[in-house]
Amino acid sequence: CEEFTLKDLSRLTNGFAEEAKIGSGSFGSVYRAKLPDGREVAIKRAERASTGARRRRRFDAERAFRSELRLLSRVNHRNLVSLLGFCEERGERILVFEFMPHGALHDHLHGEDAGSGHSPLFSSWEARLRVALDAARGVEYLHCYAVPPIIHRDIKPSNILLDDDWTAKVSDFGLSLVSGASASTSPTTTSGTAGTVGYMDPEYYRLQELTERSDVYSFGVVLLELVTGRKAIHRDQSQEGSGSPRNVIEFAVPAVEAGNIAKILDGRVPEPRGHEVEAVARVAKIGAECVRPRGRGRPVMSEVVAELEWAVTLCE
Ligand code: ADP
Repeated sequence: CEEFTLKDLSRLTNGFAEEAKIGSGSFGSVYRAKLPDGREVAIKRAERASTGARRRRRFDAERAFRSELRLLSRVNHRNLVSLLGFCEERGERILVFEFMPHGALHDHLHGEDAGSGHSPLFSSWEARLRVALDAARGVEYLHCYAVPPIIHRDIKPSNILLDDDWTAKVSDFGLSLVSGASASTSPTTTSGTAGTVGYMDPEYYRLQELTERSDVYSFGVVLLELVTGRKAIHRDQSQEGSGSPRNVIEFAVPAVEAGNIAKILDGRVPEPRGHEVEAVARVAKIGAECVRPRGRGRPVMSEVVAELEWAVTLCE
């Protein structure tokens, strides 16, 4: 991975201009640019924390940056967003990634275009389940093939990006942690928890013991979102207190356990036909298994990948 100068990156983004900005996240801002060799890139520039009271934040941020850089430079897989370069000049923390033209899965599932038919994710179960399979393979790589294994800690649809040909890739390793040993036997104890509400493993939250099974939980929420078209958490105030489910787990899991798949497919997703019916039911079931309250009861990513491979084959 290449080291860029601040001058180069500033020139490529017109001085980090608003027009070049394509998003912002917990880390800072993301800009779109084209390298002199024609490659499109996404440039992630961390917020600059300056002096005094912010010193601790700045220290944490620098540590997170180094950690992301270290992790990213070690991994290489077609379902993980590739790091192409970085810049650490004059207090700046900038990462340069391959550009993912179709953006984040979150926007295709829940954005304005979600139901408009523009996104192939809306019209085809094969495309929808392929996204799940791609992302599962990315996470499986982190757990099983990265040395040492890596726990992502923030699996969610806004961290699953889509390439030009709709290949899904997992991104955002800012919170990732190198796993201690084989996960389920010796969990890594962390100081405090990190992740996103709605996706965070309740067992990890309670015990602060992190294993690969926490990623499996988050991935299960993503699977349930893909199958139902619903958000992880409903923020609709009108539903509060009315007894209706407030998250996708409460909505989907009882129906899946009762074998009533039709109940969770209520018009936000394409209607499954032929073999798709069986495929969708299997994916809903594996999603429900991934979000079991106890980590030990959940499958491992290789099992999730095998199930999804089978489901995609059924849809072909
Ligand atoms: P967060 O910290 O909220 O996970 P990020 O800082 O990773 O978000 O990214 C914010 C947004 O920028 C993403 O939701 C996505 O729309 C866009 N983005 C990030 N990385 C890329 C990329 N490699 N290619 C295209 N868009 C990207």
